[in-house]
Amino acid sequence: VSEMIVRSLVVVLFLMRAVAAAGGPDSALVEKLTATGLRTCDAYAMLARLTTAAPHRLAGSDGAARGVEISRQLMQEKGLSNVRLDPVMVPHWVRGPVEEAAILPGGAHDTVHLAVCALGGSVPTSPGGIEAEVLEVRSFEELHRRAASAKGKIVFFNRPMDPSLLETFQAYGRAVDQRGGGAVEAAMAGGVAALVRSMTLAHDNVPHTGSMGYKDSVERVPGAAVSTVGADSLSALLAREPHLRVRLRLACETLPDVPSANVLGEIVGSEHPEEVIVVGGHLDCWDKGSGAHDDGAGCMQAIEALSLLKRLGLTPRRTIRAVMFMNEENGLRGGRAYASDHAGEHHVAAIESDMGGFAPRGISVQGDSALFLGVSRWRPLFAMLGADKFVQGHSGVDISPTVARGVPGFGLDVENHRYFDYHHSDNDTLDKVNPRELEMGAIVEALLCYLISEEGLR
Ligand SMILES: [Zn+2]
Repeated sequence: VSEMIVRSLVVVLFLMRAVAAAGGPDSALVEKLTATGLRTCDAYAMLARLTTAAPHRLAGSDGAARGVEISRQLMQEKGLSNVRLDPVMVPHWVRGPVEEAAILPGGAHDTVHLAVCALGGSVPTSPGGIEAEVLEVRSFEELHRRAASAKGKIVFFNRPMDPSLLETFQAYGRAVDQRGGGAVEAAMAGGVAALVRSMTLAHDNVPHTGSMGYKDSVERVPGAAVSTVGADSLSALLAREPHLRVRLRLACETLPDVPSANVLGEIVGSEHPEEVIVVGGHLDCWDKGSGAHDDGAGCMQAIEALSLLKRLGLTPRRTIRAVMFMNEENGLRGGRAYASDHAGEHHVAAIESDMGGFAPRGISVQGDSALFLGVSRWRPLFAMLGADKFVQGHSGVDISPTVARGVPGFGLDVENHRYFDYHHSDNDTLDKVNPRELEMGAIVEALLCYLISEEGLR
């Protein structure tokens, strides 16, 4: 009983502080941040520059190098301090000039072209392509059961993302094993390639790429994604003609690692410059679309969060550092390098936006219950921005190596019904980003950075 009383008291104290915060000087700060940000929506102008000059920023590419340079320029133009590049070696996979697939004519049908793209990290097919029958499965378990009939075939993984789930990230998480592990599973069953239904809830003819892996002990067979429309066509034809044949040609390859960089800029803290709050996203993206939502948005929001504080003339007590991480999509080298390069510094918090540049809904807090309770006192302020859905959970992939060292992590949670319509595909372009929604994410990050800087976390 006494524990219950103590808990109730703690809750009452937090509520009192929260009520005080909502009416106090902090609420005036929220109003100023909102008005200043929404008036010009600078994050969008920055994102336009990034995606126009460097649309394809896959690690190791010329586009990624241009992205590094543009981010550095933007940070300098916005007046950030200590703008610099942290060098990091990154993998260099290239898509190559050819990627095509077709159902070969036979039975009652002519050639049916399928919209496909190589999965990131895939080996190529032979120049003439692979021509084989197809085994359609919905899961690895089904493939294991039917392994006897997989030999020499293209294994077609066709389990859709589950549309009945409210959270699209959950639907993605429950389907993406097919993309990441499909080629290994196909090869272990004696298959010659993996063809994977695109990770999207959209029904269109656009294939979605993404990373896939190999195991040293398993033969490397090519992996490709097929559009959802193509997957449904192939599945329907297979039902009528189980022995139809598909030809798949991919010309992708892995080249030697190349030098690249994380890009950093900051506002130096006035009282505790040695205490650092990181806010960032990943600068690299797939070579489809222009990485507008994933994750040009998160990068430009981080720069804008700092720029907003500067425009308001605020000088935080602790250092706030924007970091554009390199190589999240196919290696996480930038995130790992940051954590080890800066291990000697005192990090107070690490914040990431990597769920798309949509309207913010809240914060996902990665840390213990005391941390969660501590930041929950600020919820009324975030409610003013429509972003007071605070949950305990994952923060961000790029900051995960930093968070693994015990640093509290924070992920910007956003409205995400449309995210996977665009994710890793030609659909991920600037026109899918709304300037106000993008800016609201930057405003939420600016507020979170500033509150942590001024009040600490506990
Ligand atoms: Zn991302």
